[in-house]
This record gives sequence, C-alpha cells and structure tokens, in this order.
Amino acid sequence: MGRIVNEIFIPQWKIDGKRRPLPPLYEAVKNYGEKNVYFDKPQYVDKGFCLYCGKKITNKRRKSYCSDKCSIVFQNTTVWHRGRGAYGTNILYRDNFTCQDCDEFHALQNEYGVYLPVSDGQLDIHHIIPVSEGGGDEPKNLITLCRECHKKRHKK
Ligand SMILES: [Zn+2]
Ligand SMILES: [Zn+2]
Repeated sequence: MGRIVNEIFIPQWKIDGKRRPLPPLYEAVKNYGEKNVYFDKPQYVDKGFCLYCGKKITNKRRKSYCSDKCSIVFQNTTVWHRGRGAYGTNILYRDNFTCQDCDEFHALQNEYGVYLPVSDGQLDIHHIIPVSEGGGDEPKNLITLCRECHKKRHKK
C-alpha cells in the first residue's frame, strides 16, 4: 500500500511517518542467508505433552496435540505470520521472546497457563544502528526489546 507521486511509489510507512517495516522473510533469506535468518521456534512444553493445553497426550497416534481442537487453536494463535511479519517472528524466536535489556519473558500465556511461541504484544524489534544512520535489517542489527526498554534506548 502506498501512493504514486510524480511516478515514484511512496510506501505507506513513509506517508504515515511510521517505522519502516522489516523486509519479508524471502527477501531476508536472499540478503542474509537462510541459516542467519531461520531460528528454531521455542517450545515451552515437554515432549509427549499437548503444545496447547499442556496435558499429557494419551493417544499414541498423536505427537504434538491431545486433540484436533488444541491443534487448530494452536495453529490459529501462532501461525499467522507467513507474510511480512515472519522475519520479525524469527528474531523473536532467536531471542526466545525475552527482552534483551531487562531479561523479561514475553511469550503469550494461554488460558491453561501454557506459554505459546508468540509475543504477548509487549515486544518490539529494535534496530541497534538506527535506520536513519544507515543501519540495515540484518539479524545482527536487530534486537528484541520490551516496550519500556525500547523507549529507554530511544531516549539515549
Ligand atoms: Zn490439548
Ligand atoms: Zn525490557
């Protein structure tokens, strides 16, 4: 989304004055290499227990979830970042949903008290060298911070 001015495409984030979004995952892979961009999704439930409700899986044919219902809810909660947000999500995986300044853990906790590999909404991805000073989107320049610590970094 954006607007065309004098035959030049102006992206929406420039019009709104918002932060520039991270590139989509395929572009990050192309620019920085697959192994620098992909990080394992953290898992907060032991093997043999349902990833969503945390109960022991009794059905031998099931591996990750106790039921179809848990599987669907888990997918719906965690697998929506296929597009633009996916690269940022990988950075959150790398940093284990933990603020790299104050060490606070910010994975979403569901109604069963189980943590899911998704942000609770209090995390930002920060450019260590700001974009305005030539900082890029490479994984080394990105860091997970909580809202409070993010504000503090920008005050400095
Ligand atoms: Zn379950
Ligand atoms: Zn923090």
